Amino acid sequence: SLKGKTAVITGSNSGIGLGVAHELAKAGANVVLNSFTDRDEDHKLAEALGKEHGVTARYIKADMSKGDECRALIEQAGVCDILVNNAGIQHVAPVDEFPAEKWDAIIAINMNSSFHTAAAALPMMRKAGWGRVVNIASAHGLTASPFKSAYVAAKHGVVGMTKVIALETAEEPITANAICPGYVLTPLVESQIPDTMKEYNMDRDTVVRDVLLARQPSKAFATVEQIGGTAVFLCSDAAAQITGTTISVDGGWTAL
Ligand code: NAD
Repeated sequence: SLKGKTAVITGSNSGIGLGVAHELAKAGANVVLNSFTDRDEDHKLAEALGKEHGVTARYIKADMSKGDECRALIEQAGVCDILVNNAGIQHVAPVDEFPAEKWDAIIAINMNSSFHTAAAALPMMRKAGWGRVVNIASAHGLTASPFKSAYVAAKHGVVGMTKVIALETAEEPITANAICPGYVLTPLVESQIPDTMKEYNMDRDTVVRDVLLARQPSKAFATVEQIGGTAVFLCSDAAAQITGTTISVDGGWTAL
């Protein structure tokens, strides 16, 4: 059980981050939710999650595109036994047309934030004598697709940094690993389906099978519960010697 541990999950008011928060809370961890907004519904989301699982849950606003806010999130949490770097955005365009500000934002949110949060959290983990860094990378941390230069660069960067953190903590009771999901049906992915149906003049099932899941041999989406369950496993005693590596949850994508 993760009772008594505190998990900070970046970008967790929707999608995978929220799913991971639910699974960690179900396993007994107190959780800190985060995004860059500060709405009533963000705080209510944390309140409801805490009630559902009988744990302490808070929401802390911090913009993961800004290094000082990444560090402030961890400082405000006060304790961080489990750090889940999940905040991420996407933009799709060929390299020669890729807007420089989109490149900078993706590198900042999808990669640099993990450096800043880890830098702030590792001293807390050392003090507590236990820690887990779980970075939500992607199949695109291990392979590439056209038009996703910033995303692929950032996710490969996260995988590399995960290995370095693992080496720097190798003799301590701290591990660092990256989960590499294939396609997960989050609101982010769901919102792309209607446009893609129009673009290709296809029905929903065909778009899902032949466009979204073209490279996912299982022809099924991974679920946020499965990503969360993988995070819980990485926090278990069984995973104490698993460090500096990646776990793919991608229906066979990276086996192709
Ligand atoms: P999502 O859009 O549902 O969630 C992204 C989260 O990040 C949201 O909570 C959003 O509020 C937050 N966020 C965005 N910008 C932020 C910022 N500047 N500061 C703080 N929070 C911010 O998307 P998702 O599909 O759940 O993606 C979550 C992570 O999983 C991302 O890192 C993504 O790259 C990765 N991933 C997703 C898939 C997939 O198929 N959905 C596959 C592989 C990897």
